[in-house]
Parts: sequence; C-alpha cells; structure tokens
Amino acid sequence: MACNKKIYNELSLKFVKNNVQLVAVSKLKPIEDILEMYDLGQRDFGENYVQELLDKVHKIDKDIRWHFIGHLQTNKVKQIVKFVYLIQSVDSLKLLKEIDKQCLINNICVKCLIQIFIASEETKYGLSEAELDEIMTLYKQGIFKNVEIIGVMGMASFSSDLQKVRDEFKQLKSIANKYAELKVISMGMSQDFEIAIDEGSNMVRIGSMLFGKR
Ligand SMILES: *Cc1c(COP(=O)(O)O)cnc(C)c1O
Repeated sequence: MACNKKIYNELSLKFVKNNVQLVAVSKLKPIEDILEMYDLGQRDFGENYVQELLDKVHKIDKDIRWHFIGHLQTNKVKQIVKFVYLIQSVDSLKLLKEIDKQCLINNICVKCLIQIFIASEETKYGLSEAELDEIMTLYKQGIFKNVEIIGVMGMASFSSDLQKVRDEFKQLKSIANKYAELKVISMGMSQDFEIAIDEGSNMVRIGSMLFGKR
C-alpha cells in the first residue's frame, strides 16, 4: 500500500465537511501511487516539476485535474498550459503574461492563483501585497484575456512557532479578502493544514502525510 488509505479517507471526509478542496501532492511519487488514490476517489493532484508532470500526464489516461504548484520558469509555460487545470504558483507578472500569451496561442483559458510570500524564510517564492495589487489592477483592466485569476497560494514558514504560522496564514487570508475575484485560498500542507483551515483556507496541498515521505 503506497498511499495511506486510512488517513486519506479520514482527511477527505473532514475536508468535504469543511468545504476544503484537497490537492494530493504527488511530486516524486510513482504513477501507481496516483492511481491508487484515484481509485479512492481523488481527482486533484499537484506536481512541482514540468518534466515529471508531462511524463505523468502522458502515461495516465484519467480525468485528473493537474495542479502545478512548483516554481515555473517562463520558458517552460508553453509545455504545460494545455494540460493543467490550475497553476497555483504564479510568482511574477512576467510569468502571468507568458501564461496568458501561451493560452491565447492555444485558444484556451487557464485558471491561476497568485503566489504570495508570507513566510520569513528567504527561499520561498512569491509576490508581495503591493505586487499583487499591481497585477489585480491590470487584471481588472482586462489586460489578460486568457487567464482567470481565482485566488492566492502561500506557504507558511517551516517553524515550530505555531503562532507565527497562524499569523502568516491570517495575513494571506486578509490580503485575499481585498479582492472579490480571489475566492480560492490555497494554504496548508501536511504539517500545518489544520491551522490553515482554521484561518480560512479552502484548498490544502498535502503530500507526505498521504504518500509517505519523499
Ligand atoms: C511539496 C509541496 C507541498 C506538499 O508538502 P507536504 O509537506 O509533503 O504535504 C505543498 N505545497 C507545495 C507548494 C509544495 O511544493
């Protein structure tokens, strides 16, 4: 058993009750693990790496909604736009413009989340509130015709200071509240999803707790 069936069933029940969408993060995990969870009813899977995503998309012929959650290089956008349901990790205006451009070429519209930097660590990608404001101003002007911005994504600090983690999630939620368009609040991973849900998350991205450690 590669995915933890018992934990999956417990968690998915709890998320349904709370109106929280579960994205099962399958990065670095084999296709068999994904299929096993698919058979339990899971349809949303998250991947971090372009090549790995493409590989899985081409090998798995199922109605899976693929979420891209890793740092996305502008020059790789064209490879994935046709296959993704939601790009959660839009972390620059340049990237958003490229997604819009590639979607136009393919005559599609892709849903996006803007990744906001809320942690205190320097290694995490994401935009500031001011940069989000700039993007939303352009978005409302109708500059981007082939992307739909539906929310925000953020990662809290890897910290044992739970109050700090809570404050970071609170901050993301309050930033999103400024814009009616930003309905999806993607926050919470294996180690902090309960706090995230407490603070208003409606989408969690969980990997190791479901599939075991990577
Ligand atoms: C890997 C990853 C996750 C899942 O992390 P776990 O700790 O394994 O639950 C969630 N979000 C992003 C952006 C990730 O890169």
